[in-house]
Amino acid sequence: VLEVHEARRRILEGFAPLGPVEVSLQDAHGRVLAEDVSAPHALQPFDNSAMDGYALRRADVAGASESDPVTLKLIGEVRAGGDVSLEVESGTAARIMTGAPLPPGADAVVPIEQASDDESVVTVRAEPPASGHVRRAGEDVKPGDIVVRAGARVGAGELAVLASLGSARVRVHPAPVVVVVTTGDELVDVTEQLRPGQIRDSNLVALVSLVEEAGATARPYARVADERTAVIDALKRAADESDLVVAAGGVSVGRYDFVKEAVEELGAIDFWRVAMQPGKPVVSGHVSGTPFLGLPGNPVSVHVGFEQFVRPAIMRLSGARSVVRPVVTATLTERIEKPAGRLHFVRVSLGIEDGGFTATPSGPQGSHIQSSLVGCDGLARFPIEATTIEAGERVEVEVWNLPGTE
Ligand code: AMP
Ligand code: MG
Repeated sequence: VLEVHEARRRILEGFAPLGPVEVSLQDAHGRVLAEDVSAPHALQPFDNSAMDGYALRRADVAGASESDPVTLKLIGEVRAGGDVSLEVESGTAARIMTGAPLPPGADAVVPIEQASDDESVVTVRAEPPASGHVRRAGEDVKPGDIVVRAGARVGAGELAVLASLGSARVRVHPAPVVVVVTTGDELVDVTEQLRPGQIRDSNLVALVSLVEEAGATARPYARVADERTAVIDALKRAADESDLVVAAGGVSVGRYDFVKEAVEELGAIDFWRVAMQPGKPVVSGHVSGTPFLGLPGNPVSVHVGFEQFVRPAIMRLSGARSVVRPVVTATLTERIEKPAGRLHFVRVSLGIEDGGFTATPSGPQGSHIQSSLVGCDGLARFPIEATTIEAGERVEVEVWNLPGTE
C-alpha cells in the first residue's frame, strides 16, 4: 500500500502540461502562460501628468508660496488623449489633465489645488515636488523587459499589464478536459424522488465543481450502471474525449464493483490502494491511452481523493508551477484520535485567533458524513504513526479557503 506522497508522485509522472494554444487575452484568464512575454514598448509610453493642474517650467516657479505667488501666461490646455501642439516656454503654463502628455518645454506640473487661472493668467502658489507630478516614460516597464513569465497563472493583474502592452493574443496551456463518471445502481438524479434503497447522486455535482474550480472543463457521465459492459463502454467513450477520466464509486472489492476490471480490460492499473483515511481504495491507471483515476464512492472520499490526486494531475496538465494546495500551521481546538497506519485527513474549519490559525473539525468525520463538508476550509492531516493529537497541538492544514477577518 503506497503512501500518499508516493502515490501522488507516481500519478504525476504520467502527466505533462498540455501543448500550448494561442488565445485572446480574455480567454487567457485563469490559464497558465506558456511563453515569456516581453514589452514591445515602454510603460508609461510617454511622459504624462499625474495630476489635474498646470504644466510649466519648474525654474519659473522656484520659491512660489501662498504669500509669494508667481504668475505665468496661460497658453492653452492639454487633455488626456488630446494632441500636444502646445509648447511651454519660460513664463508660460498650460492647463493639463491627469494622463495627458506633458507638453514639450514643460518639466513639472503644479496641481489645481495649488494654482488657479482667470483664463489668461495662471497664479501658482506652491513649488512642484521633486517628481514634478510627472509619470516618466518607462518608469513602470522598459522596452524589452519580460513582464510575465512562462508558468505564471494569468490573473487580472497579469491581464492588465498584457493589455497595456498590446498583447492581444498569448500562448497558454489549455484547460484540460476531464470526464467525471459516477457509478452505482442506487443513484438517482437530484431532481428525482427517492424510492426505497435509492440515494441521490451527490458526487456528480461535487466532482464537476471540483474539476471546474481546478480550472479544467468537466464532462459529466452520470450514473453508469453497476454492470461490467456498461462500465467498460462508459470508460472507453470517456477516454476518447478527455485528457483525464475520473470515476467515483465501484473501485472497491464488492461483487458489483466493476471499475478495476474495466480499467484492466481497456488499459492497465498502476496501483489501487493508498495508505490514507478516508479514501483508501484509489485506482490509478490508464484506459485506452488516457490517464484514469478512480475514487471510492463515499462523498468524503471523493473530496479527499480529488484533493490529493486529481487536482494535482489537473494542475500538472494545466502547466501550473505548483500542483498542491498551500499548507498552513494551525492550532487544533479539539482532541483527535485516529488509527495508526494511515495518513489521516480531518475536515476542518479555520479561524484566526491572535494572528494565528485555529483548526476545528467541521463535524463528525465518517467518510459517509457529508454535512461536515459544509463550511469546511481544508484538510488537517495527521501523520501515519500518530494515534492521538491533543487540543492545542500545532497541525498542518491543506487550505481550500482562508477565513475572512471581517
Ligand atoms: P462504492 O465506492 O461504489 O462502494 O460506494 C461507496 C458508498 O458511496 C456507497 O454507500 C454508495 O452508495 C455511495 N456513493 C457511491 N456513489 C455515490 C454518488 N455518486 N453520490 C452519493 N453517494 C455515492
Ligand atoms: Mg457502488
